[in-house]
Amino acid sequence: MSAPSPADFVPSEDNLDPADWEAFRAIGHRMFDDMVDFMAGIRERPVWQPMPVDKRAELKAPSLPHEAGSLNDTYDAFQRLVAPHIAGNIHPRFLGWVQGGGNPVGVLAEMLAATLNGNLGGRDHAPIEVERQVIKWSAEMVGFPETTTGVLVTGTSVANLIALLVARTQALGIDVRKDGLAGHKLVAYTSPATHNCVLRAMDMAGLGTQALRLIPYDARHQIRLDLLTEAIATDRAAGLQPFMVIGTAGAVDTGAVDDLAALARLCKQEGLWFHVDAAFGALAMLSPAQRPLLDGISEADSIAFDFHKWAQVPYDAGCVLVRDGEKHAAAFSTHVNYLKRETRGLAAGHPWPTDFGPDLSRGFRALKVWMTLQVYGADKLGQVVANCCDLAQQLAARVAAEPELELLAPVALNVACFRFKASNKPLDALNTDIVIALQESGIAVPSTTNVNGQLAIRAAFVNHRTRAEDIDILIDAILETGRRLG
Ligand SMILES: *Cc1c(COP(=O)(O)O)cnc(C)c1O
Repeated sequence: MSAPSPADFVPSEDNLDPADWEAFRAIGHRMFDDMVDFMAGIRERPVWQPMPVDKRAELKAPSLPHEAGSLNDTYDAFQRLVAPHIAGNIHPRFLGWVQGGGNPVGVLAEMLAATLNGNLGGRDHAPIEVERQVIKWSAEMVGFPETTTGVLVTGTSVANLIALLVARTQALGIDVRKDGLAGHKLVAYTSPATHNCVLRAMDMAGLGTQALRLIPYDARHQIRLDLLTEAIATDRAAGLQPFMVIGTAGAVDTGAVDDLAALARLCKQEGLWFHVDAAFGALAMLSPAQRPLLDGISEADSIAFDFHKWAQVPYDAGCVLVRDGEKHAAAFSTHVNYLKRETRGLAAGHPWPTDFGPDLSRGFRALKVWMTLQVYGADKLGQVVANCCDLAQQLAARVAAEPELELLAPVALNVACFRFKASNKPLDALNTDIVIALQESGIAVPSTTNVNGQLAIRAAFVNHRTRAEDIDILIDAILETGRRLG
């Protein structure tokens, strides 16, 4: 419960700072105390609860607020209307999609970063050195060499797009940046386990989604090397230009990891760019038990991954790494007068982050990553990864032991796909209804996916707060709901 409201915020007459910094301090302390309670009590809250119609209506303003308002009232609206109706991914029983749980050190880092209000597009200042350090640590994590460059972005969707543009520029030569793609015959390869953002990257890069060949996977959901080799030969014979293979390390549906070492060898033989979408899987490099699954990732030309998933950094923080930094800059660096580089002064520090991606202005995302890594240490994050994978195995064992449930895909990493089967009703619709009922109950949030044509209840273990007891709560709720609806 909050302490009584402090005196309201009053801005200075001539700028946006408070007229009274001590009053501002009191308001801030109260907010911080409330957020500590919120984090500490998260397990006791519903995972998710739909936002009621009246609250949605209350949040809708009739027009742009022109007059000054009250900070205390605005904060009250945040507490009543916003905070109770979050998606719930900080909760230990949020198991839907693949979402990170955030962490308290990251919360503090967000406040520090906002205070400095850094713009990390370029120039010579310490926040960029922090980002460079994060990129260096990331390269070390995946076994990339000193030549590696990288940049923090919103997420793996953008990181994949950046990697694709680097690979495209390598394949067609730097003139593609001026001439465009006219008449290109580029084709790329991945498996149907790929994330939709890879298709979107093909679309946004102008290559078209049809130029992405979806090579079937085997029973373990790993791309079939024999069919991949065949497809490359067929495309070459047809006069097309194969240029890139996208391996998946942690498929979004099942957690499957491609045979990355074999893909790396094949790409070397065929002269193709080897990119790995390791959105959450990359963090498995920090866990000795899971690391062998990613053998070969250090041979890639580029890797995309997220800090906001398994590394528990608050949203948003994704990363792209390119093994050969010169190739990375070749795809993005430009020279314009107002961004001229110097060897001294604030315009020093070449190359700048803007040379490695589409953004110019960028926030100080790196601080929350840097602080999370410094304070918890990579080994502890690796333990979170190992624990999540253990939980997925425990869930699979519990599913196998329950006659009313069945497992729909092997558990490779941290994702389990299963369904309630003890009903004569159509199972796809029934399992969809079970998941929705569970979400609405606030007890647990799994999501759904389709595995080999069957609707699956999907539980992804990503959150550092999840424990073994949460699996029992989830399964008991699924059995109870299945029996009731089935
Ligand atoms: C989450 C995910 C993405 C997309 O990443 P964003 O951070 O949401 O942009 C891409 N690929 C895989 C395998 C993912 O799990």
